[in-house]
Amino acid sequence: QIEFIQALKLPGTKEKKEPQLTEVEKKIMDIEECKKSLPIFPFRDEFINAVRENQVLIIEGETGSGKTTQIPQYLHEAGFTEDSKKIGCTQPRRVAAMSVAARVAQEMRVKLGNEVGYAIRFEDCTSERTVIKYMTDGTLHREFLSEPDLQSYSVMIIDEAHERTLHTDILFGLVKDIARFRPDLKLLISSATLDAQKFSEFFDGAPIFRIPGRRFPVDIYYTKAPEADYIDACVVSVLQIHATQPLGDILVFLTGQEEIETCQELLTDRVRRLGSKVKELLILPVYANLPSDMQAKIFEPTPPGARKVVLATNIAETSLTIDNIIYVIDPGFAKQNHFNSRTGMESLMVVPISKASANQRAGRAGRVAAGKCFRLYTAWSYKHELEDNTVPEIQRINLGNAVLMLKALGINDLVHFDFLDPPPHETLVLALEQLYALGALNHHGELTKLGRRMAEFPVDPMMAKMILASEKYKCSEEIVSIGAMLSVNGAIFYRPKDKIIHADTARKNFNHPGGDHLSLLNVYNQWKDSDYSTQWCYENFIQYRSMKRARDVREQLVGLMQRVEIEMVSNVSETVDIRKSITAGYFYHIARLSKGGNYKTVKHNQSVTIHPNSALFEELPRWLLYHELVFTTKEFMRQVVEIESKWLLEVAPHYYKQKELEDPTNKKMPKTVGRSTRTE
Ligand code: ADP
Ligand code: MG
Repeated sequence: QIEFIQALKLPGTKEKKEPQLTEVEKKIMDIEECKKSLPIFPFRDEFINAVRENQVLIIEGETGSGKTTQIPQYLHEAGFTEDSKKIGCTQPRRVAAMSVAARVAQEMRVKLGNEVGYAIRFEDCTSERTVIKYMTDGTLHREFLSEPDLQSYSVMIIDEAHERTLHTDILFGLVKDIARFRPDLKLLISSATLDAQKFSEFFDGAPIFRIPGRRFPVDIYYTKAPEADYIDACVVSVLQIHATQPLGDILVFLTGQEEIETCQELLTDRVRRLGSKVKELLILPVYANLPSDMQAKIFEPTPPGARKVVLATNIAETSLTIDNIIYVIDPGFAKQNHFNSRTGMESLMVVPISKASANQRAGRAGRVAAGKCFRLYTAWSYKHELEDNTVPEIQRINLGNAVLMLKALGINDLVHFDFLDPPPHETLVLALEQLYALGALNHHGELTKLGRRMAEFPVDPMMAKMILASEKYKCSEEIVSIGAMLSVNGAIFYRPKDKIIHADTARKNFNHPGGDHLSLLNVYNQWKDSDYSTQWCYENFIQYRSMKRARDVREQLVGLMQRVEIEMVSNVSETVDIRKSITAGYFYHIARLSKGGNYKTVKHNQSVTIHPNSALFEELPRWLLYHELVFTTKEFMRQVVEIESKWLLEVAPHYYKQKELEDPTNKKMPKTVGRSTRTE
């Protein structure tokens, strides 16, 4: 039992409880009715007129009012696609782009990929016929490279602007610029929250079109005391609601796939043990890597008499609207990328959300009837510990990627680029330094030939450099496989709770003594040898869908290799060259063994630890390269590979000096520890 205290009410515009819920339960609204019921519907004509009269328009409307799904359709119906130009709409999240496109295709009764399509990194589901195109903000960013004036679009909608992702922030500056010399292009900036005024000012006083909100009040509850284990607290709260509260679906906010899976298992298990004592409870997860047919399930209406609980990442905060949510459970955390410009280290960590986020989450409970939000933290903590707003990404993540893209677009003077909120100066400088060390920029800060080739790849600069370096080391086949496997990140190995031992044994069979990158290569190559078999995946505890995605990504990377004229060659007998290629890209991510089996990063002496899942967890090689850092209880290096320090002088002579790579304890160490002469 968790004790909650009711604190305040999030006021609604509709105070009276309407019998909405049972009505929805009785009949599934048909699509036309559903469209007409959205808050934006009565403003259709007014909206179209506003677009006709203004080149730039800011749209503000509460989540679920129909901005993302309806606006492109309204514009299409009003003739904005007549001269064979498209309506584009950006989304910060992959899942949202796919799911919304599917929904709109359904509403327009067309096949997804025909008139309505989407494009995300490594996946283009559009055709010649596409007139409404949803895409991630990163994808539009890349489209600027091939079509700098966005000539094929009549309207561009920058949606979910309030999310302030790095790509969206940079798009603001880019679209503002082209709007000046393309007076026929309509620009819509759409936001769920109160930032509209700020966007309006940035776009030279563009008018704001407000869609009046429509929300039922939400009662907010806090826990009496802090909860030590919020996953467990979520499970208990769900069961508590299920047992004591009237029907209505529950939305739980968790930070990622792992947490969602854990929570799902715990809940399934406890519900099973309760047996027929409770009503039916449908447990549905939603996160970025979930296959789209599974994602679609969250939108299916709950069967009468049952209750649905959706376990979601903060994708459900504003990007996706799930109807009929009455209860929200909010542990108050989200996963965020953090970049330390002092140490140059970037890592993914779980952090407390902001007050603005907490209120967005609570708001999700009041769409169809009065709702309740259970916060798994104290009222004191809300008041004193949460920041007011989430810091925009541009001010907290590594800008290497963004800077490379801007340089490739010919924007040289980044200090004077029109940013909505400029990034910290030191972050910008660090990105420039990094690109210089990678060889993408020359000492005047201009793009080099290598940099131009790097910009062709929709991956971060380190990976692009690794891929390009495979030309020199004659192992492009292997490196492209490794790159593809790293891009599907995390979800390769399947580890069901009831078969952990089997799964771990299966995983160990792939382990390569050189490190995890090579283990991933083993997985890929063996799968390929099985003729990409599903059965093989099943037997080896490998996630088939992830492998399929890796294969797709790989194909695209191979296509890009052809574009930059790199031959695909294989070098299987020797892993030194493969590891050198990796080092040529990731030489920033080097750690060396120090006393007591700990690791320290070379440049900044930060303590880091090998992730327990790694093939090298018990090996402790002297020099390591890591793919990424994940901060949980400490900084863990995920995906590590053993390297030799002298390679660093070979691949990054601008960055490393002989002296800092000398090891003071070298002479005392037995020769076998370094194992620097190993070949496979
Ligand atoms: P906004 O962009 O203003 O937040 P949306 O246009 O995303 O609003 O949502 C409008 C309605 O469309 C919501 O009621 C939501 O339930 C429905 N909807 C959106 N995506 C889907 C989907 N993939 N499947 C079913 N319904 C959806
Ligand atoms: Mg939306």
